[in-house]
Amino acid sequence: SDRTLVLLKPDAVERKLVGEVVSRFEAKNLDIVAMELRQLDADTLARHYEEHVGKGFYDDLVAFMSRGPVVAMVVEGPEDTWEVVRKMMGATNPRTAEPGTIRGDLGILFTENLVHGSDSLASAEREIGIFFPNL
Ligand code: ATP
Ligand code: MG
Repeated sequence: SDRTLVLLKPDAVERKLVGEVVSRFEAKNLDIVAMELRQLDADTLARHYEEHVGKGFYDDLVAFMSRGPVVAMVVEGPEDTWEVVRKMMGATNPRTAEPGTIRGDLGILFTENLVHGSDSLASAEREIGIFFPNL
């Protein structure tokens, strides 16, 4: 089995798109092996976004990611699950993300791009350790 971390960001929860996005992963025949609604704090976000700490957009990113709860989940598939999920999410900027992707179909603003998915197998293992240390 092969797992990745997915976060449904505060905009997805506010806009009541949790079911819509979860449905896409289910329809793809991926397994949801953990899922929790959770308010993120600054420490957790600094660990999760360690590669972005100190960048110009970091404070805006933290303000956005902590303005309401996220849905954190671990998604499992047969192989390269992180890559399958990233393809389903579409490009970082929803304005230019392809139609048919989560961001391309549902988003329009850059920061409010609905969903996070780990960007490598190593990132997936690291991030699952942050959000679901008992898994
Ligand atoms: P995520 O890590 O959230 O899945 P991503 O891997 O597609 O998204 P990253 O480069 O890791 O993109 O950036 C993390 C998040 O930071 C993006 O989702 C976006 O909301 C925000 N972000 C990234 N670059 C910028 C930027 N130049 N200006 C504003 N916000 C940005
Ligand atoms: Mg990223």
